[in-house]
Amino acid sequence: MPSPSLLSHPQTLNAVMRDVRGLAPREGSLEHPTKVWTEPERHGAQVLDALVVILKTRGCTWALSGGCTMCGYVNDSMVRKVEARQLLAQFRRALAESHRGQPIVKIYTSGSFLDPTEVPDEAQAAILAEIPPGVRKVTLEAQSVHATDARVAAVRAALRPEVELEIAFGLESARPAILQYSVNKHDTFGDFVAACRACRAHGVRTKAYLLVKPPFLTEREALEDAVATTLAAGSECDVVSLNACNVQSRTLVERLWKRGLYRPIWLWSLVEIIRRTHGKIPARIRCDPVGAGGARGAHNCGACDKRVLEAIEAYSLTARLEAFETEPCACVERWQDTLELEGFLQGGVLK
Ligand SMILES: [Zn+2]
Repeated sequence: MPSPSLLSHPQTLNAVMRDVRGLAPREGSLEHPTKVWTEPERHGAQVLDALVVILKTRGCTWALSGGCTMCGYVNDSMVRKVEARQLLAQFRRALAESHRGQPIVKIYTSGSFLDPTEVPDEAQAAILAEIPPGVRKVTLEAQSVHATDARVAAVRAALRPEVELEIAFGLESARPAILQYSVNKHDTFGDFVAACRACRAHGVRTKAYLLVKPPFLTEREALEDAVATTLAAGSECDVVSLNACNVQSRTLVERLWKRGLYRPIWLWSLVEIIRRTHGKIPARIRCDPVGAGGARGAHNCGACDKRVLEAIEAYSLTARLEAFETEPCACVERWQDTLELEGFLQGGVLK
């Protein structure tokens, strides 16, 4: 584990991340999106189809300078300039080939849709103007520093008024020390609050992604941070999404994991975070852990993972704690020991 003195230098994690990634410009067509698929999405009381489009951009500006310790999305980026007309061509191609009336459209990049150096302002507006009739909701992902009042107003105005717009922000944690030393995130909690308020002023809904168990934290520290962040974010945004940190390729988290220095969060901790925050905030709490049940994602002992994941999924759909009335498992004791003892055994960076 890096020593606190190493971590205290603000440029260190960016240098480490540049070394881990080893990015170079990629070959490939700039007029084809990275990936397009359809998935179910909760919308009010219904579950509707959502078309997901990942645009191929130059890459997240922050990740190109080093970036967050867990994020491997920049590995799919071009690492060279992608013009506004090429981004528009990618989106048109995705719609022509894959839009079959899905009422929800999600537009993601590997970074921030509202970053004008990644998606030029004219491309942001032109892409949203392409949304076909019949679409009821559009979701974008952006970094909160880019969600200025003027830009939120511009993207809202580019969409037909009857289409609901939601912008999702990677908040990760409300605690500055965790953002700086563990996630290496440049947006602050204050940036997130300002972005949510700009969105609210223009009738745009907001979602916060939390990073549950970033590196260098014990299980207990991760659990307490997620509870505190959910409570802090939950009065600013419409949805809090508990994203369990998973082990993505060519990241610092992967390097630590391969050396036995990182274990993704226990599913029991996710259940505990939900239990401790349910009903205490206006925002809705969702949890859909990517890659859960495997070694690179949130997991328990293996024997109970499937049923605990089903309970978490049921909670996300119903918002009812009764979803967790499942039979216990012998591994609960091991999880409780981890919560109590891990701090004594290896220590975290945050005491
Ligand atoms: Zn178990």
